[in-house]
Amino acid sequence: MLQLSQVTAHYGTSQALFGMDLTLEAGQVATLLGRNGMGKTTTINTILGIVRASGGKVLFDGQDVTGWPSFRIANLGIGLVPEGRQIFPNLSVRENLVATASNHLGQAEPWTLERVFALFPELQGRASAMGNLLSGGEQQMLAIGRALMTNPRLLILDEATEGLAPLIRQKIWAALAEIRATGLSILVVDKNLQDLLRLADRHYIIQRGHVVWAGSGDALRADETARASYLGV
Ligand code: ATP
Repeated sequence: MLQLSQVTAHYGTSQALFGMDLTLEAGQVATLLGRNGMGKTTTINTILGIVRASGGKVLFDGQDVTGWPSFRIANLGIGLVPEGRQIFPNLSVRENLVATASNHLGQAEPWTLERVFALFPELQGRASAMGNLLSGGEQQMLAIGRALMTNPRLLILDEATEGLAPLIRQKIWAALAEIRATGLSILVVDKNLQDLLRLADRHYIIQRGHVVWAGSGDALRADETARASYLGV
């Protein structure tokens, strides 16, 4: 579904990605792990064309999308839950969900308002509330719901549970497990390793803009050295 080969990226003269390699199969959940500033957000933004790759290739569903404008890449079916949520503050919950909704890929069982409200009952009770009046947890649920309403084939979450209380975090992880069960592919960045180990099939640890470790959850559980040296856990 998604393949990065030797992707490099720069901010001006400063290089942020140094040959990223990553593969995500359809229906899989993969994580990007690594300490702050190692290039996780840059990787996501490069996949989506928000940051332009200066070298290497990004393939989505076999198609070379390197250098494509962001909206064209997103239109292929990538839903982003960005760091900081970035919901529309002066639209209601319902309006946030429908504003960018579409099913132009013709998914057989599309996400609808009802389905999103069933996934996050908290949002249903707040359907008329403005975005800027929501709690952090509600905003994150809304950001996920909004991405689902574009009926993507790949869902990307940058910092899925950052800054949320433990109970809310657990609701987000449970929702992601439900979303995963629908067969959607997911790429997720987060710091809660134990939750990620439960959810994901494959893990990529990034250090200074390239992958230094890749493998299954079992392999990562067993590799104390990798966890300690790359993640500090
Ligand atoms: P975090 O968890 O802190 O968001 P990250 O792993 O997502 O970290 P990135 O945000 O991708 O890391 O940053 C990778 C490198 O690129 C860092 O050295 C960072 O300082 C640099 N960088 C990120 N965004 C910009 C920008 N807009 N302009 C210049 N440098 C940037």
